[in-house]
Parts: sequence; C-alpha cells; structure tokens
Amino acid sequence: MNSSPLIDQLMEAFRCLPGVGPKSAQRMTLHLLERDREGGRKLSAALALALERVGNCVQCRTLTEEAVCRICASASRDRKICCVVESPVDIYAVEQSGTFRGIYFVLMGHLSPIDGIGPEQLGISQLLDKVKHEDSDIEEVIIACNPTVEGDATAYYLAEQLKHCHILVSRIAHGVPVGGELEFVDASTLSHAFAGRKAMDES
Ligand SMILES: [Zn+2]
Repeated sequence: MNSSPLIDQLMEAFRCLPGVGPKSAQRMTLHLLERDREGGRKLSAALALALERVGNCVQCRTLTEEAVCRICASASRDRKICCVVESPVDIYAVEQSGTFRGIYFVLMGHLSPIDGIGPEQLGISQLLDKVKHEDSDIEEVIIACNPTVEGDATAYYLAEQLKHCHILVSRIAHGVPVGGELEFVDASTLSHAFAGRKAMDES
C-alpha cells in the first residue's frame, strides 16, 4: 500500500496497542516521522528498556523491575490485609482512591478455562502459601476481582480455597457496576466499595 515497507511495518506494530486501529496507527507513525523523531527515539528506548527489565514482584506478582515491588517493600503498609486484584492496573486504581493501606496480590488475569487459564496461571497456590506461611501476618483477604462473569467465578474459587485458612475473606461490593472494571471506577466509588466489603460465606 505504502511506498515504504518500513513505514508499513511501523504502522502494523502500533496496532498491537489496545484501541489502536489502522487510522490511529497511521497518524502515530506519520507524527513521529514527520514531527517528533526525538519523541520517537525516547519511546523506542523506554519501550526496549521496560520490556527488558520489567518482570514480576516475587511477593505480589505485580509488574516491577525490582525483585520486590515498592509496595511490598514499604514498611508503612499494613501486612494484615491483602487485596487480591486481577491486574496491575487495578492497583493503580485502588492506590489513587487512597482508601487502602494493605498489601496486594495480583492474579494477572481471571479463571478462563477456554483460554487455558486455570488456578496455576493465576498463582493461586502462591497466594495460599503466602496466607498459610508461619510468618504470615495476613488476617483478611479482600477479593477485588472485577464484577464480571469471569471475575465472579474467580472470586468464588478463591473464597473456596481460602475457606480453611482461618482468615476473614471479603469481597468489595457496593458501587462497582456489574460487568464493569475496577480501572474505570472513580476513586470515591472505589473507597465506598472497600468500606462496604462483605464477608464471603461458605454458602
Ligand atoms: Zn509486590
């Protein structure tokens, strides 16, 4: 289509980003080449470095270039409460709401047998080990999975697994719209959702 295979290749590469269709990919590509090569170089360098260095926190699985992320390493966090979320973006949402001072555990997804994502891929045994560990201070696990069908299934599975751990298992409830995702919920709604969390029964 284009006179330049390299330009075609760059446009195609931009399309791996969520929400970027052919038109946006074209605009981004031409913008960088026509008007902002310096910005393009910075983008390219930052991307290469992040892809090379960012891995997962050994304690909570969130994305970080350190072995233990800053939240897990912080002395000011309350280690008695652990909030389980589906994705690192949910940590940003909860942190921005300023409502939670505990620690996190990131599943990096939700149960989805059709995509081959089971408890193992979500690190659920790692979470159970963490809760059951003799040095563990965890007294409550707050499940903050998204209120979607898959999020619900994941939350119930987790509650079932945590049932015999002698800790309180709760789930954020109020105000998070059904089918919605945490990252799109505003901060005050999210803090009400935490305050109004409900214990998950065996039933
Ligand atoms: Zn961590």
